[in-house]
Amino acid sequence: MLAPSPITPTVDFERDGVQHGFLRLPYSRDDSAWGSVMIPITVVRSGTGPTALLTGANHGDEYEGAVALFDLAQTLTADQVAGRVIIVPAMNYPAFQAGTRTSPIDKGNLNRSFPGRPDGTVTQKIADYFTRELLPLADLVMDIHSGGKTLDFVPFAAAHILPDKDQEARCFAAVAAFAAPYSMRMLEIDAVGMYDTAAEEQGKTFVTTELGGGGTGRAETIAIAKRGVRNVLRHAGILADAPPADGQPAEASRWLDMPSADCFRFAEDSGLIEACVDLGQPVRAGDLLARIHPIGRTGLAPSEYRAALDGILAARHFPGLVKAGDCIAVVGTVEH
Ligand SMILES: [Zn+2]
Repeated sequence: MLAPSPITPTVDFERDGVQHGFLRLPYSRDDSAWGSVMIPITVVRSGTGPTALLTGANHGDEYEGAVALFDLAQTLTADQVAGRVIIVPAMNYPAFQAGTRTSPIDKGNLNRSFPGRPDGTVTQKIADYFTRELLPLADLVMDIHSGGKTLDFVPFAAAHILPDKDQEARCFAAVAAFAAPYSMRMLEIDAVGMYDTAAEEQGKTFVTTELGGGGTGRAETIAIAKRGVRNVLRHAGILADAPPADGQPAEASRWLDMPSADCFRFAEDSGLIEACVDLGQPVRAGDLLARIHPIGRTGLAPSEYRAALDGILAARHFPGLVKAGDCIAVVGTVEH
């Protein structure tokens, strides 16, 4: 039997109306003996309908979700909602405050910390609260990621192949409703400990995204996030407003697949990366994706990294320097 979560919400999830508050997580430290981490949360509830749980900044250096959700929390009114919307714009709040992927407190990668522990590190305590308190409240779960400082993606919403085909169909219907420029059948290289897995194991309709990256948010990708969040809430029947006239129709999204681990290319050398293809460009198996130049001295040949599949470049390493083991490219296959 697990201990109760040490996190106390300052909002009442059963109350109608709009509430802005915090998940208060005790964190005793040098500069605050009885201090807490204060994770902002908004609950908007009215009438009867499903519950959506919306999160950004699961990784602290990914900004489209945080911008879209701080904006939604500030603008959504109870009379627009049938059901309940729970908004946590910055899920790993210490990492978000520091502008880093992982928490500066315990180096915890929240998206590798599930299901979490009530008696663990700060990051594990956040994961445990989502697993045991917030996910059970939700029907629909959307977690908005981007590439962070080290990856950049073509903008897509995504779901996973699941053993429960009814659940899988619900997830992909929500991905289609998001209507990002791309929609992905996503393969995870490291699914253990992910929030995605925790939500899917509880039978939730789960949508994730990758909407850009590089440790910033762009106007285009922020607009995709803002539009996509409302599109999915409309799809769930929680929002009844008309979609904006300038919204991208769901049919316009291009479906991509990640059929095997051959999609990923990992650096086997460290050095200076020379991109040979840009995001979204078509590639064929054997095409050169990138070269890595040794930087210790001149006169050495670069190593070459080639596509193993036909598709488009869906993700790439963002910084100019690369280390052995870094993911340098992801090729997504185009579904016809
Ligand atoms: Zn992420």
